[in-house]
Amino acid sequence: PTRGYTTNPRYLVSNVDISKTAIKDSNGSHSFEKLSLLSTVVTDYIRSTSIRGARVALLIPPSLQYAAGMIGVMNANCVPVPLNHKATDTELEYLLNNCEASVVLTSPETDDILSEEVTSMCIHGNEGEGAKSNVSFEDLIGGIMIYTSGTTGKPKGVLAGCNAFKQWYSALVEGWRITHEDSILHTLPLYHVHGILGIFSLLTQGGTVDLRSKFDSGMVWSEFMSEEPPSVYYGVPTQYSKLIEYYDNNLVTREDEVRENLQRLRLMVSGSAPLRVPVSEKWEHITGHRLLERYGMTELGLVISNPYEPVSGRRPGCIGLPFKGVKVRLVTESGGVVASAEDGMLSCATEGEPGEIQVSGPTVFKEYFNNPTATVETFTQDGWFKTGDTAEIEGGVFKILGRTSSDVIKSGGYKLSALEIERELLDHGNITDVAVIGVEDDTWGQKVVAIIESNLSRQEDIDQLDLRGWCRDKMSPYKVPKDFVVVEELPRNHMGKVNKKLLVSKYSGVLR
Ligand code: ATP
Ligand code: MG
Repeated sequence: PTRGYTTNPRYLVSNVDISKTAIKDSNGSHSFEKLSLLSTVVTDYIRSTSIRGARVALLIPPSLQYAAGMIGVMNANCVPVPLNHKATDTELEYLLNNCEASVVLTSPETDDILSEEVTSMCIHGNEGEGAKSNVSFEDLIGGIMIYTSGTTGKPKGVLAGCNAFKQWYSALVEGWRITHEDSILHTLPLYHVHGILGIFSLLTQGGTVDLRSKFDSGMVWSEFMSEEPPSVYYGVPTQYSKLIEYYDNNLVTREDEVRENLQRLRLMVSGSAPLRVPVSEKWEHITGHRLLERYGMTELGLVISNPYEPVSGRRPGCIGLPFKGVKVRLVTESGGVVASAEDGMLSCATEGEPGEIQVSGPTVFKEYFNNPTATVETFTQDGWFKTGDTAEIEGGVFKILGRTSSDVIKSGGYKLSALEIERELLDHGNITDVAVIGVEDDTWGQKVVAIIESNLSRQEDIDQLDLRGWCRDKMSPYKVPKDFVVVEELPRNHMGKVNKKLLVSKYSGVLR
C-alpha cells in the first residue's frame, strides 16, 4: 500500500496507508488522504484570514468535516473551539462572545445555525483582511465566481458556493433529462452562467460538449444537418433570429430535408433575454421544434423553465414554472405577494397582477464579491433575493414583463410593460425588431418611445407608415409610442441583450 505523509505530522498520523479509512460518517468511509486534503484546505483558509492564536469556532456535527476542521485549524496555529452545533441562539451568543472567535466554521447541516444578529454581535475582528465571520465548509471546498452581463451597470462578480453551483446544473439535468447519451453544440460565451451550465449539465452526466469559439449561423446549420448532429442546443434569442435569417437566404428550398434532419435533435433551449413570439413561432414552423424558454440569472443559475414534457406545455412568450427546489414569489411595490410557486407548482396566484420576481432556496448565490452593500440591498428582510425583474401569472405560468428598472415604464399615471408593447409592435410587417423605452418627459413622467429595426431603412418611410395610427387601432391609447425612431441595428451585448440604458441616454432630450 502507498505510504504518505500529511502536510503537518503534528495533528495527523504520519506514515500511514493513505487509502485506509480514517473516519466513517453518515456519508460513508473517508480515507486518510481525503481527511488530509480537506484539513489542508482549512489550514490554508484560516492562515489567510486569521492571525496566529485566533480562536476559530466550529459548529459542525460529528463528521469528516469536524475532524478536518479541528486538524486544519490547529495546523494553522489557531485555536479550534468546538461548540455544540445544537445550541440555541442565546447560548451561542454567550459562547461566541466569550471565546472571541474570529471565524466560525460551519457545515451544510449547520450553515443556518447562526442568526445574523448573533453573528454580527459576536464575531470579533481579529482576522486578516477579507475574512468572513461565518464560514461554511462548503465555501472552503470550492465555489464559483461568475460576472453578470453588465446590462444595467458594471458587471457584478457573483460568488456562489459549490452547493448552489451543483444545484444549478442538477436542475437542468433533471428538468431537461440530460444523460450520457447527450451531446451539445456549444456556441455560448464561457464566462457567462448560461454557457457554463451548458458545459456542466452535460459533462457531469458523461455527455459530450462540442465547444465552438463563436456563434456562426452557417456552421450551426451545417452541424444540425450533419451525419452526427448534437442532441441538444442552448441558445439566446438573437441566435435563433440569425438562424432563421440564414434559413430564409440559404435553406428555404430544402424545407422538408431541414425539418426531417432536425428531428434528430431532442431539445432546443432559449434564454437570457426575451424570446419574441414571432421568432419562436417561425422556428417551430421551420424545424418542428418548439423552443423551451427558461429564465435565470447569474445570481441564481436557471430557476424558471417551460416543461420538457409535454411540449404543448411550452407556451411561447412565457417562461413556465420554477425548477424543483426553487421557491419563487411575485411581490408588488407595496409588498403584497400576488403569486408564489415552489417545486414546479403554483400554490397561489392572482392572474395578471404584476410583481417583482423574488427567489429563495439553495440556488441563490452567496454574495457580490467585495460589495457587501449591494449584497445586503438585493435581499429582502425575510431573506428572499430580489431579481429586479417584473412578471405576472398568465394561464397558470410565469410571464416576464421585463426589468423593473428599464422595462416598466411609468407614463401618464400608468405602469406599462415595454415587452408587452414590443410584442404588439412586432405584428407590424415592417418592424423586424424593436426596443421600447421610457424617456423622461415633463408631461408624461416618462414617454413611450419605440426604437425600431425595420425592413424600411429611412426615417421618412417610417413616418409615412403612420405607425401611431396603426398602434391606436391595436392598443390602449396610453401604450401607443409617442415617437418611432428607426435604427440600422439595436445595440446589443455579447448575450444579445439590448442595451436600453444606452438607448435611454441617447434619446433623452433629443426627441421633440
Ligand atoms: P447586470 O446584472 O450586470 O445588469 P444582467 O442582469 O443582464 O446584467 P445576467 O445575470 O446575465 O446579467 O442576466 C440576467 C437577466 O437576464 C435577468 O435578470 C433577466 O432580466 C434577463 N433574462 C434571463 N432570462 C430571460 C428570459 N427568458 N426572458 C427575459 N429576460 C430574461
Ligand atoms: Mg442582473
